[in-house]
Amino acid sequence: MQAQSSTLFHCHDYQRLVRRWRKVARDAGLQMTAFAQAGGYEVLRLTSRKSVEGGVYLSAGIHGDEPAATEGLICWAEANPELLRKTPCVIFPCLNPWGLVNNSRFDEQGRDLNRTFQHDHVPHLQALKAFLKPLRFRLALNLHEDYDGHGLYIYELERHAPFWGEELIEIARTLIPIESRTLIDTRRVSKPGLLRRKIDIEKFTAIPEAIYLHHHHAERTFTFETPSEFALEQRVRVQVALIDACLRR
Ligand SMILES: [Zn+2]
Repeated sequence: MQAQSSTLFHCHDYQRLVRRWRKVARDAGLQMTAFAQAGGYEVLRLTSRKSVEGGVYLSAGIHGDEPAATEGLICWAEANPELLRKTPCVIFPCLNPWGLVNNSRFDEQGRDLNRTFQHDHVPHLQALKAFLKPLRFRLALNLHEDYDGHGLYIYELERHAPFWGEELIEIARTLIPIESRTLIDTRRVSKPGLLRRKIDIEKFTAIPEAIYLHHHHAERTFTFETPSEFALEQRVRVQVALIDACLRR
């Protein structure tokens, strides 16, 4: 599927993103809620109308300078209303709207929100955690980009086989180069482009969303990282393909 090139000029326009999600909510029968305010913007959550227990968690935009994440998620959703309709799911389309509008990794207070899940100082993330409290998901996808990336790479938080990482890398390879570095963020890759690792949450002093989900709520957790120096359209296409591959399994 092609991302509409006209949309790519608008990838930091939050109000436009909200309008697109409102249409997805109508088309797919999802409930859309502005569940909190952050930095002067409403933060959105979309949920299936029936129970979301045992379903899928999709999240993008906690880092606002990673627009292929928010754009990839909406493009995938716009193309898949029927799949969304029948899949129990919770979607957070953009957890840092101020960052998206200002092309910033950080929020309006200079915080990296993806390092704050260990405490409750951030009201909208506190609300998110309260909402998640009783829920378990079979799958959680966290969509990101890396400005140091030389290609696409994936974090697969290890719990039990069969693992999906290798197959996802093969899907991505048809669309974008795979990361060539063997050391990413001081961690050695398992295979080219794949960081599969067991997690001990006690070792984290600054907890990211994916680690929090893996520890408390999700059976399988992935983070996709597209290289943000590549063309936006190509990065969006990869995010869409990876979401699609996971949701159809
Ligand atoms: Zn990120």
